[in-house]
Amino acid sequence: MKFGTKVIHGGLEPDPLTGAVMTPIYQTSTYAQEAPGKHKGYEYARTQNPTRSALERNLAHLENGSHGICFASGLAAMDAILRLLNPGDEVVATNDLYGGSYRLMRRVHERYGLVSRYVDMSNPAEVADAINEKTRLLWVETPTNPMLKVVDIRKMVELARAKNVLVAVDNTFASPYLQNPLDLGADLVLHSATKYLGGHSDVVMGAVIVKEDSLAESLYFLQNAVGAVPSPNDCFLVLRGIKTLHLRVERACSNAERIAGFLRNHPQVRNVYFPGFEDHPQHAIAKAQMRHFGGMLSFDLHTDSLEHATKVLSNTHYFTLAESLGGVESLIGHPASMTHASIPREDRLKVGLTDSLIRLSVGVEDVEDLIEDLEKALSEL
Ligand SMILES: *Cc1c(COP(=O)(O)O)cnc(C)c1O
Repeated sequence: MKFGTKVIHGGLEPDPLTGAVMTPIYQTSTYAQEAPGKHKGYEYARTQNPTRSALERNLAHLENGSHGICFASGLAAMDAILRLLNPGDEVVATNDLYGGSYRLMRRVHERYGLVSRYVDMSNPAEVADAINEKTRLLWVETPTNPMLKVVDIRKMVELARAKNVLVAVDNTFASPYLQNPLDLGADLVLHSATKYLGGHSDVVMGAVIVKEDSLAESLYFLQNAVGAVPSPNDCFLVLRGIKTLHLRVERACSNAERIAGFLRNHPQVRNVYFPGFEDHPQHAIAKAQMRHFGGMLSFDLHTDSLEHATKVLSNTHYFTLAESLGGVESLIGHPASMTHASIPREDRLKVGLTDSLIRLSVGVEDVEDLIEDLEKALSEL
């Protein structure tokens, strides 16, 4: 089955009870039993819900995995993965990653004995150096947020295999349409379904997709035992969003490419970070492991003035100033004060996350309007 068919049919059948073409929202917390323990496979909705199961099967198809496990948010999904580890175990992660992921490791799991190290994963030698006998997990984010570096997933898998280390890839930025880490040897894929999978900025959800039954079993256990599950209604919204995933991402990618070119030639703009540029340091890796280059890009200003950045951020009209990404509407954000505010300034400057860095999540609007919007905001500096 090809991707555009999977989004609509992968793991999904019309409702066996009624023939409903769209998966029904089973808005129930519990299920009738005929006698104690005698039931139709459903007991209590934290453990099992048919709407959620349909989404989980669909997600497994999209990532070429065997199991999808959904959680109430992307961070709840990451929390479940981190709970696979024991106190004293170590994680090696990208040093330029989603701020909430950094916060979860440093401020929550460190209290329970997790040790996390942060390296530039676009440089495999740094990763090899950071792995020791206590390392259990590589936490890969690619393209990275917000610097749009690309990490060679195959290379990470190679380094991890030699040392019996699990590889998890946060695939939120790429979406399953652009990149399938399990095919490249990763053990776990994480999605903040809040972003491209949902795609309409109307739901918060997370998911993990795996191939291995034993990993899935541990994650299903945590899903039920910890209980950070999504509602049936939210599962319906993500199922609905996924049906147009390929169309939305395709358009976002072509829009982003045009916008990246426009910004690169703008006199006020210093750097544009976009893996689609042929001179992007990891362009060849992006080309090899992704279908297109994504709908995300960042840029900063020659002046690197916070005041100028604030002006741009406040003066766009179609680009809405907001957290998040991956929706049909274009968003503009300021990582230093928004998504990455929990990372100390000196740490973020080291990775190029300057005070004037602006991140765009390019939506599916007409690109001429988006370019005009940016042109106008930049001309007011
Ligand atoms: C948003 C995001 C998360 C966290 O997901 P939530 O659904 O907000 O909990 C994790 N990783 C990346 C790359 C994200 O963009």
